[in-house]
Amino acid sequence: MKKLVWWSVLAVIFFSIGCGPSAEESNDGTEILVEEINEEYGFVTDSFLVIKDKVRKNQNLSEILLPYGVPYATIDMIARASKEVFDVRKLAAGKPYTIFCTKDSSGYATCFIYEANPRDYVVFNLRDSLHVYMGKKPIEKRTQYVKGTVNSSLYVDLQNRGADPVLAIELSEIYAWTIDFYRIQKGDAFEILYTENFVEGESIGVDRILSCTFTHYDKPIKAYYFEEEGEKGYFDENGNNLKKAFLKAPVKFSRISSGYSMKRFHPVQKRFKAHLGTDYAAPTGTPIVAVGDGVISEAKYKPNNGNYVKMRHNSVYETQYLHMSKIKSGIKPGARVQQGDVIGYVGSTGLATGPHVCFRFWKNGKQVDHRREELPSALPIAENLMAKFKLVIAKNDSLIPVSQPKAVNIVVGNPVKR
Ligand SMILES: [Zn+2]
Repeated sequence: MKKLVWWSVLAVIFFSIGCGPSAEESNDGTEILVEEINEEYGFVTDSFLVIKDKVRKNQNLSEILLPYGVPYATIDMIARASKEVFDVRKLAAGKPYTIFCTKDSSGYATCFIYEANPRDYVVFNLRDSLHVYMGKKPIEKRTQYVKGTVNSSLYVDLQNRGADPVLAIELSEIYAWTIDFYRIQKGDAFEILYTENFVEGESIGVDRILSCTFTHYDKPIKAYYFEEEGEKGYFDENGNNLKKAFLKAPVKFSRISSGYSMKRFHPVQKRFKAHLGTDYAAPTGTPIVAVGDGVISEAKYKPNNGNYVKMRHNSVYETQYLHMSKIKSGIKPGARVQQGDVIGYVGSTGLATGPHVCFRFWKNGKQVDHRREELPSALPIAENLMAKFKLVIAKNDSLIPVSQPKAVNIVVGNPVKR
């Protein structure tokens, strides 16, 4: 990390601007001499011989430090002293480290720094008072914008535009109640304004989607993130909650292997019969989640259903999940679960040809096709917060570039350090 030091004194001498101005004040079009001080982990690197490497397979602290003149006794002491802060047995192969050595002829290591992850590092001070402490590199939060159409898969399309594909997962969560992400198609469009965290210019991941528009079957659906007085989540431009009472599916990233139908050929029974559920094929062991808050009414084994769970959400709706390899422990009649809680795992128990979850949806005691139901929406933005919400909309919309001939990932707004 480079730190710029403004030589205001020199600036005054050379440019004779006024009487004792600060560096910033004297910067009125004239050039100011700047000296760069190289700094890393809070150390002025110019004062040391700096060695950078990565931990090799099965390499331990003494193997790393012995060649740099650190006696075994010191290494043993520091290893013991560090236990509270960092266990040196956890040095992992492939992780980068830095050794600061004296610039004199001895070249002894005075400090060893291990990067536990891109943000957190451990400083082992090997000189004078041996001590160990954790440090954090500053995070720079950048506001970014990406736009495009779906060509292959949302994941790949985002990647092709230089954006973090994890945004696909974030989108599928924001729109879990409004768009069936197993059904998105070529020509659907996305526009995402988001913040991303950077450490030393390298991305360490998406922070949050601020606002987005997903156009599905030519219908754009906007979402704005809003957090105020306990309300938080994504809302459309009118303040309606994007969250509906139920998730669209009980498993993530599965595919529908068989839809709800009054007449389908049963693959096991070899005859036509009604299929009053939606089958989601997914690998055995994939977690199955409750599509809404509710109370478990049944959790057991039956020859056709296999291991299954049924739950009641309210006076109108019930859902059921069949063919589980295992019902999650604690899921039994009377247990309360929340939307998104894992209730069991995909399997092929009972009458099933392969691993899938047969998802059944009841409305007023009758099985219905949940994908055709108009499901109720969660609470909108409260009246007294609408003015604040409108400001968020205006601010986010103003950050979207006006013309963008090539849909690429670009940085907008000023980077914020924290
Ligand atoms: Zn089924």
